[in-house]
Amino acid sequence: MDLGEGLVPVAVDQGLCVGGGICEMLEPAVFELDDDTVISSVIGDGLLPRSRAEAVVNRCPAQAISIAEQEQ
Ligand code: SF4
Repeated sequence: MDLGEGLVPVAVDQGLCVGGGICEMLEPAVFELDDDTVISSVIGDGLLPRSRAEAVVNRCPAQAISIAEQEQ
C-alpha cells in the first residue's frame, strides 16, 4: 500500500475558522458549516486522500485546517 497517497484525517481549529465555507465547497462530505455560527466542523470519518487534504488545507484563508498525521 502506498501510504503517501493514503487517506489522512483532517481537523478544523474552530477558534481560527472565519467561516466562508471554502472547505465545505471543496469537500462537502468532510466539512460542514454550522447554520448558526457559520463555523466549520469535520463530519463523517474526516478522511481524505492526502492530495485533496493538502489542497483544502492550502485553500483555507484562516489556516484553520490541519492534517492529523498518523503514527507509521
Ligand atoms: S475554509 Fe477555513 S476558514 Fe473557511 S470555513 Fe473552512 S475552516 Fe473555516
